[in-house]
Amino acid sequence: MFTPPSFEQIKQIAAQIDCNRIYGHLIANEWVDGESGVVIELMNPATRGIVGKIQAGNAYDVDRAVRAARDAFPGWARTDALERQRILLEIAARLRKRHAEFAVMESLNNGKTFVEGFLDVQNAIEQFEYYAGHTHLKGEVLDFPNTMALTHREPIGVVAQIIPWNVPLLMAAIKLGPALAAGCTVVLKPAETVCLSVLALAGELADILPKGVVNVVTGYGSDVGERLVTHPDVRKVSFTGSRATAQKIISYASRSIIPQTMELGGKSANIICEDADLDAAAESVVMSTVINKGEVCLAGSRVFVHRHVRDLFLEKVTQLLGHIRYGNPLDPATQIGAVSSQVQFDRVMNYIESGKREGAQVAFGGSRAVVPDLADGLFIQPTLFTGVQRDMTIFREEIFGPVTSVIDWDDEADMIAAANDSIYGLAGGVWTRNLTKAHHIARSLDTGTVWVNRYYNTRPGMALGGNKQSGFGRENTHEALSHYTQLKSVVINFQEGPIGLFAPPPSAL
Ligand code: NAP
Ligand code: MG
Repeated sequence: MFTPPSFEQIKQIAAQIDCNRIYGHLIANEWVDGESGVVIELMNPATRGIVGKIQAGNAYDVDRAVRAARDAFPGWARTDALERQRILLEIAARLRKRHAEFAVMESLNNGKTFVEGFLDVQNAIEQFEYYAGHTHLKGEVLDFPNTMALTHREPIGVVAQIIPWNVPLLMAAIKLGPALAAGCTVVLKPAETVCLSVLALAGELADILPKGVVNVVTGYGSDVGERLVTHPDVRKVSFTGSRATAQKIISYASRSIIPQTMELGGKSANIICEDADLDAAAESVVMSTVINKGEVCLAGSRVFVHRHVRDLFLEKVTQLLGHIRYGNPLDPATQIGAVSSQVQFDRVMNYIESGKREGAQVAFGGSRAVVPDLADGLFIQPTLFTGVQRDMTIFREEIFGPVTSVIDWDDEADMIAAANDSIYGLAGGVWTRNLTKAHHIARSLDTGTVWVNRYYNTRPGMALGGNKQSGFGRENTHEALSHYTQLKSVVINFQEGPIGLFAPPPSAL
């Protein structure tokens, strides 16, 4: 818990943000205009006001950025580990200095509440601090008779990093942290709808990093993505986003055979057992529905509640939902923000309609929310569906909005099978006071993370990532460095002279 600034102070910070600024791409530590001359407006989904403008990048811009990253790589790869550590800590310190301002930018462009933005910035800072502790690349030595093998861990080279719009600053940090710790150079492409905070971070990086180590190219994925991933000087791609885009990126990456890491969607199960702490579990369902308006890949959007406690549990959840406060996302009293964009708003509303059409019952919400003084804002009520069947669209597809489906269970094996009956396998939660049961269910879920008795309970160092079509590779862990490095064996022979395999026959002597 923290004490946020007052609404008045937050408004003053917001008033200082230059919403007319046209950002360039950041290439070799310079802001440069895009070749196309086309700019894209960044919108505040709570007001529909413009909060800045960015370049619509193209292949020419990508080539310039990759060239800068390629030129910077040999020098950066050879920096002392302590130097990279100091730099990562300096990035964290710069973010901390402007903590509230970054939180405001995240709120203005994404629609999330200031409080959520503040926590995102805190998490971003911690990513840089965490990876600052992992800048020594460790190899190993293998001894054999007359031979020694040195296994070096080496940075892979120029990496492409592509991130989404839901937690942009945190996404940038979670990817830049391990890449910089490993000695890679980067071309980062944020989403064109929400990237104000990422560009502000880029401005700080230009002041700290050698030129070309991090380059940021903005624009539409369709114009920038293919050239970036297929560029012959790019040696790896790390992507967070949707499954559909992942399929394209994997096919681009196949052209020059580069490794990929993929952090994709989810449809995570939050499982409530009969003996659960129902108040804490109810809070987790509300948190998962409301936080960041449900635009969280890890959201527990399928709730499995034991039949014996179902009614009491739903009463607790709907009661809490009834007290959620709407308002200006910058107001620290506001508890739910605006959905990030018109596209996302329409998608979520369509899912809500499909739930109603397919026969689920709306236990809470189910409509657009009208917020006083923000009549144009893209707000949606937190929505809870009950009577959900396993074949319904809202139960199977990722909604990425404030919509949660509830299903009851009484047979544990059947419930686990239903929870695993998803193309996704990102995360999940289990609520029980029985440790054996918790352990059994946690190990039975085919997902990358399971939280027992507290949802979203993550600290830097705990691996995050998906099984099945939620992706491959892990972030938020020192093991992420393995994705940015490759092993090289240097094998030294100490026995002098030839092996003697091809000695001439005695008759020839
Ligand atoms: P998206 O449409 O796949 O976009 C993600 C990024 O990919 C954006 O920067 C986008 O650029 C870019 N992109 C689009 N087309 C591309 C192409 N052809 N080549 C290269 N890049 C391209 O996903 P989204 O709708 O923004 O984000 C929501 C999804 O992300 C959800 O499915 C969510 O679960 C997932 N997500 C996963 C995690 C995780 O850690 N597992 C975290 C957050 C979000 P433009 O949008 O600018 O075109
Ligand atoms: Mg997009």
